[in-house]
Amino acid sequence: MSIVRVALDIPLPSLFDYSTEELAVPGQRVIVPFGRRQMVGVVMECTLTSDMDAERIKPVTQLLHDGAPLSAELLDLLRFCSDYYRHPIGPVVLSALPTRLRSDKPLPVKPPENYSLSVAGAALNLDDFPKRKVVQRRILARLAAGAASLTQLKGISATAGAQLKALLQDGYIEHCDEVVAVAEHKLVGAHTLTDEQQDAVDAVEQAKGYACFLLHGVTGSGKTEVYVHLMHDVLARGGEQVLLLVPEINLTPQLEQYFRSRFPDTSFASLHSGLSEGERLHNWQQAQSGAAQIVLGTRLSVFAELPRLALIIVDEEHDGSFKQQDGLRYSARDVAIFRANQRGIPIVLGSATPSLETYHNAQSGRYRMLKLSGRALAAATLPQVRCVNVNHTVMHHGISENLLRDIEQRIARREQSLLFINRRGYAPVLMCSGCGWLSNCKHCAGKMVLHLKDRRLRCHHCGYQIRVPTACPECGNADLKPVGSGTQRIEEVLQERFPEARILRVDRDSTRNKRAWQEMREQIHANEVDILVGTQMLAKGHDFPALTLVGVLNPDSALYSSDFRAPERLFAQLAQVAGRAGRADKPGEVLIQTAFPDHPLYRALQRHDFDGFAAAQLAERQMAGFPPFVYQAMLRAEALDENEVFGFLNKARTAAVELKMEVEILGVVPAALPRRANHVRAQLLIQASTRKALQQFLRAWRLDALPAQKLRWSLDVDPQEF
Ligand code: ADP
Ligand code: ZN
Ligand code: ZN
Repeated sequence: MSIVRVALDIPLPSLFDYSTEELAVPGQRVIVPFGRRQMVGVVMECTLTSDMDAERIKPVTQLLHDGAPLSAELLDLLRFCSDYYRHPIGPVVLSALPTRLRSDKPLPVKPPENYSLSVAGAALNLDDFPKRKVVQRRILARLAAGAASLTQLKGISATAGAQLKALLQDGYIEHCDEVVAVAEHKLVGAHTLTDEQQDAVDAVEQAKGYACFLLHGVTGSGKTEVYVHLMHDVLARGGEQVLLLVPEINLTPQLEQYFRSRFPDTSFASLHSGLSEGERLHNWQQAQSGAAQIVLGTRLSVFAELPRLALIIVDEEHDGSFKQQDGLRYSARDVAIFRANQRGIPIVLGSATPSLETYHNAQSGRYRMLKLSGRALAAATLPQVRCVNVNHTVMHHGISENLLRDIEQRIARREQSLLFINRRGYAPVLMCSGCGWLSNCKHCAGKMVLHLKDRRLRCHHCGYQIRVPTACPECGNADLKPVGSGTQRIEEVLQERFPEARILRVDRDSTRNKRAWQEMREQIHANEVDILVGTQMLAKGHDFPALTLVGVLNPDSALYSSDFRAPERLFAQLAQVAGRAGRADKPGEVLIQTAFPDHPLYRALQRHDFDGFAAAQLAERQMAGFPPFVYQAMLRAEALDENEVFGFLNKARTAAVELKMEVEILGVVPAALPRRANHVRAQLLIQASTRKALQQFLRAWRLDALPAQKLRWSLDVDPQEF
């Protein structure tokens, strides 16, 4: 009899011992009794002894044999994350798995997912096959060249699954065990690289073992082209895998489509939160078996099993969505770097506006800087950026006269304009003109936002909502006014000024439906839209050739935020939205409405000078003692009772001070949003001058030992939000 030490999804920092008569291996999934339940766990270690009393050790209910065990490499990666982010190992391991693998039912055994032509299929003359069965014809043509996996066939068409069933039924194809590997991974539409692109590709290819590169180039400078060339070279070596990490946005399907179109013969698997459980499991297994050679995914895909991984690319590495904000608060970019190091392979971080951490590392030589200095297409020049002072111009409900005139010109030229709205501080709230009452949320420290459509006030922090009151609850005055106009107000102003114009509002509400968003993109591409009004989501990754004007309505609040990263984010956002203007042959223009036209951030933006901006920011951060010059961890707590929160944090602080280690322990302070859904929130920041010192401290800081009833707390290592 042997002992297995099992990771379970239980928030305790330990493994759980069980006995088994069968031979178990690390990485294998097991079903075990826990309390009165049966739970799925993962075997982390197999031993012969246990610290527990022999009679208390329960036997494993079932060892699962429905898939390959997790690799030692993945288990190591998960152990590292558990240790680095101070999160219990069980939840770390289990949350890395697709939901289906976490259920206590074994997976159904499926027939092999590979197909080949049957005798009848081989004898078939395609000319005699019905022309209208387009997908079936393409499948038959592909299988005539050799057997293929379901994933490969799904690469031909999304409906391949249903068509395969029909072909099986008609007897033209059959299941088989082996797939003929595609020897050639065709790269479609490859450009001859510019010298800078070629240098970047060469540098990565010549890397021996682990190396981290920052590919820094403005939007349109040809970073994607560098990625596909690098991917192609890896694929050409045969059998190896590439992991392409992309931000968590509703663009993943388009990106996938784009990369699939560049590599039509290559099998892909995508991993993101938009997939059904079944799809996610299937794609995960394709990555695990090595059948999928390109794995494209959002942050969770950094934990995919990739036995032949040879290259990692992180696109838009600065994007906030790479950091998970609950549970295991990991940065997928940082975990990806650890993973590349662990495997001894190169990793490329790409961005037009890298995070200052990454940029600093590239400048100090820890990473290698690869620069693309201009736009790849000679005709596409960078947009001209101008500021308009909102205090010295006529404003129409938030839109300046200057901007309206510019829009007018575009409409006359049949070009498109985009009005970019910074969501923060922009949602309209209700104010009483008599006493100054504001629509505060009664459960939070925030304000409730006015939704005109259904005449409601809604809190965006806790979801609390009420009908719009007809009179002020404080003084009874009936004159309640919205302050801070929302996207709907903007739309009204525009429609009044340009009655003929076709205006499209693109925000989270209007794009919740995938189909609707697809239709909107088509409308924009067909130039059936004159003015786009939108938030963050429009800034990213779209290519709208007729778009030549971007108006930025209200960027200033980020300049004076209490979060030291706010300027960095604003610069990235504005550079990105500016990158939308003038991608094709038409030059673009950006108009920023601001009360501070001489602010260094806007100046740098006008000169397209990320380096200058970054240098100034880094100098400031060094002076102030902020990251990347220090390493931080944030302890957050929230509870209904204020005394609980501050009591807990003060005890944690005392415990930290008593350790007398090389860290700076700041004071206990209220969170940026001090109250949410009736819970009082506060935090405690720890800083150290090296990562190592911080890690040593965090390991010694026994937070579990502190009493914490009626209280939620979390530790965030390398926090991004303040
Ligand atoms: P980024 O990823 O940096 O935004 P892309 O790789 O998408 O840039 O390139 C921008 C545009 O320039 C695309 O239309 C692309 O096809 C084109 N392009 C990229 N590299 C080259 C090249 N070497 N020669 C010609 N066109 C190129
Ligand atoms: Zn009032
Ligand atoms: Zn609220």
